[in-house]
Amino acid sequence: MLTMNNIGKTFTTDVVQTHALRDFSLQVNEGDFLAVTGTSGSGKTTFLNVAGLLETFDSGQYTLDGQDIQGLKDRARSQLRNEKIGFIFQSFNLIPDLNLFDNVDVPLRYRGFNASQRKERIINSLERVGLGKRLKHLPSQLSGGQQQRVAIARALAGSPRFLLADEPTGNLDSDMAKSVMALLQEINQSGTTIIMVTHDKSLAEQAQRQIIVRDGKVCDSTGPIARPESVNAINV
Ligand code: ATP
Repeated sequence: MLTMNNIGKTFTTDVVQTHALRDFSLQVNEGDFLAVTGTSGSGKTTFLNVAGLLETFDSGQYTLDGQDIQGLKDRARSQLRNEKIGFIFQSFNLIPDLNLFDNVDVPLRYRGFNASQRKERIINSLERVGLGKRLKHLPSQLSGGQQQRVAIARALAGSPRFLLADEPTGNLDSDMAKSVMALLQEINQSGTTIIMVTHDKSLAEQAQRQIIVRDGKVCDSTGPIARPESVNAINV
């Protein structure tokens, strides 16, 4: 479970101070598929980076699977991040000179798996995304949708409990976006908690829950858990 209470995050440059998150509060339960929407600059990526332990925060409380994040030393944060969190990004972030096998291997090398464990994980995760027969291909030999699948395989290879996705379909045409979304849903159904930032309303509606971020805080939320109660309230 991921719980944030009143998180604040300010970026300060020579000329300006930006309150990217203010009093940001949210709970994400095990097995959720949460879509995060909101206008440009509202704080979505900052939230995702704080949630994924890529960014620190200035105030408030954040606990991840019962672990209080405030005050963790850099090394403990990295360890927790490597153990629990996988990331995918709009631009895939694959290494162009490495084939698919070696791309997926990169984060596993930091996790202390031996060579045969790594090989098994790489092959399993590439098979899971439908690319088990392309281990020796370079990213440039794949479509955008396939490259995003490699990035998903790389994120999954370490068996993270949380998959954080920042505009994962932002560079894809609508058919490829649909197929990546279907893959994310399948991954979620097999137990991985997913938090996905997206501008695409139709994709967001396919998630289990949605939050809308405005001016650095959650300004609205929807989802099947909330909807029946509000329908009942209206009916009563
Ligand atoms: P978009 O949808 O355009 O990607 P977003 O909702 O993800 O936007 P963030 O990227 O989280 O928004 O940015 C929130 C605010 O914090 C913006 O005003 C942005 O300019 C500012 N910001 C983000 N990162 C930094 C940084 N490293 N240094 C200074 N300001 C930053």
